[in-house]
Amino acid sequence: MEKVIIVGSGCAGLTAAIYAARANLSPLVLEGRQPGGQLSTTTLVENFPGFPDGIDGPQLIMNMHAQAEKFGARFSYAEVEAFEPNGDTVRIKADDEWLETRALIVASGASARYLGLENEEKLIGHGLTSCATCDGAFYRNVPVCVVGGGDSAAEEALFLTRFASKVYLIHRRDKLRASKIMADRVLAHEKIEPIWNTVITQYIPDEKGEMSAVKLRNVNTHEERLLDVACVFVAIGHDPNTKAFAGKLETDPDGYLLAKHLVESKHPGVFIAGDVADRVYKQAITAAGSGCAAAIEAERYLSSLELK
Ligand SMILES: Cc1cc2nc3c(=O)[nH]c(=O)nc-3n(C[C@H](O)[C@H](O)[C@H](O)COP(=O)(O)OP(=O)(O)OC[C@H]3O[C@@H](n4cnc5c(N)ncnc54)[C@H](O)[C@@H]3O)c2cc1C
Repeated sequence: MEKVIIVGSGCAGLTAAIYAARANLSPLVLEGRQPGGQLSTTTLVENFPGFPDGIDGPQLIMNMHAQAEKFGARFSYAEVEAFEPNGDTVRIKADDEWLETRALIVASGASARYLGLENEEKLIGHGLTSCATCDGAFYRNVPVCVVGGGDSAAEEALFLTRFASKVYLIHRRDKLRASKIMADRVLAHEKIEPIWNTVITQYIPDEKGEMSAVKLRNVNTHEERLLDVACVFVAIGHDPNTKAFAGKLETDPDGYLLAKHLVESKHPGVFIAGDVADRVYKQAITAAGSGCAAAIEAERYLSSLELK
């Protein structure tokens, strides 16, 4: 019987691990298929407090990992496949083995949707990203493009006008799905140029492996052309990693976990943290903050069980 199991080793899971380990709970962290989470796929992180010169995403994650391990957190690469609340405990199946725990922190994150084109994985962090708040400031006075037509795409395009010389908004339809007010703001902005009925069919990196252009195809005329851009911001949504918890933990229609109160799920002893429950901010620091809160609540819950 474990005291605390943490699902995920992104910023939320690792921060929860630091707090739970320092509370002497010897948490077991199940890292899943992407140890270190989304930050392990990026390069420079300039907005995590405490690093005035920025820090490499993978280095930040390794630091958090070492900090949690130093206080007694244990790690396994197991992937959670199933979850069952079981009275005062929780059972989870990970890599074919059932584990039982008094408290569970679900910090399994969310995966940004990309376009599924060649070289995609190699280009993430090198001119291909899903986060304008994170990476917009790296692209000053150069042309960039945003892919998508919803509110997030509109928001990202508007945000990027603060830095980029030009923001192309590439959408496969002939009008935006974004709310009218956002769509009006986007279309009125002098730096934003919508490119309608169009999809990207190829990323074109330069000799250093950084994005330099994209190939576009008009979905009606099938006409193709090249567009020079230093970065592609893909804003076509995220998929929260909640498959293992489907039907057992409450989610919104898009699969994001819903809390009963802050980081508490409706199941006693099950806490949620990070992007898996956050459709709004999706930042390393907000994920870390909720990981801290989840670990503190888990510790209080375990103390209340002991009092009982
Ligand atoms: C390219 C890129 C650049 C970014 N840059 C920045 C930036 O500069 N600044 C910033 O603040 N934010 C940035 N972000 C956003 C930031 O990375 C996320 O907000 C943050 O990583 C969320 O942390 P998390 O712990 O909630 O989830 P994640 O980082 O998504 O981690 C999820 C973890 O859960 C594990 N997992 C998933 N399913 C299972 C399962 N079934 N069983 C076991 N484990 C599982 C995964 O393996 C992973 O370890 C960036 C994101 C991307 C993609």
